[in-house]
Amino acid sequence: MAQLTVSDQITKLERHLRELESVYHREPHSVKLLAVSKTRQVSEVKAAIAAGQAAFGENYAQELSDKSLEIGPVGVDWHFIGALQSNKAKLIAQHANWIHTIDRLKIAKRLQHHLAGSDKILQVCIQLNLDAEETKAGISRDELPALAEQIVELENLELRGLMSIPKPASDIASQRRHFAKVRQALEHLNQNGFALDTLSMGMSGDYQAAVAEGTTMVRIGTAIFGKRR
Ligand SMILES: *Cc1c(COP(=O)(O)O)cnc(C)c1O
Repeated sequence: MAQLTVSDQITKLERHLRELESVYHREPHSVKLLAVSKTRQVSEVKAAIAAGQAAFGENYAQELSDKSLEIGPVGVDWHFIGALQSNKAKLIAQHANWIHTIDRLKIAKRLQHHLAGSDKILQVCIQLNLDAEETKAGISRDELPALAEQIVELENLELRGLMSIPKPASDIASQRRHFAKVRQALEHLNQNGFALDTLSMGMSGDYQAAVAEGTTMVRIGTAIFGKRR
């Protein structure tokens, strides 16, 4: 069988997302597709843009900056989804439209520092860590409200919601349990005066569970571009 092109994969995924929205009683088009283009060639990103894809996720600040410059102002959004070192904050402030991985005030303040005086607003998700033993990135639910309150004070940052990466689970029930906790954390913030509209959750292996639990943005690499080399 011929291999599907990037364009075919995007069409197929968009169709599957619409189906899942219907199955799980979600509003049509309430789930956005973020194409994770880390390690992919600019030509592959361009093929995705030609297929109508308008949002790309990158894990390395330098790679995001290089690709966004090479591709130029063609109306696509760049989302930073990796761990941000403070010495790379300037690159992200300059070239990203979104960052999904804020987990400490220091980085948020660095970004604000580089944006101060400009009219650019960086869209922000806080990374929530519900499996504290397995990974270090992200903050606990206990620390979340305080960080959220501090971030909304920063003028050039707009807090949009939460992001989470579960530890791998192959059964949909345990995938859903994790995503449900993230959704509940967002609902809790919104009951306490926030107006957050974004849940960044779901990757190639678990996006169905994420749609079932209310994701608004699935971050998908492999299912669009194939296995990373
Ligand atoms: C690489 C990556 C993805 C995409 O993963 P796939 O399994 O290839 O879909 C999503 N989110 C983050 C944070 C990533 O680092």
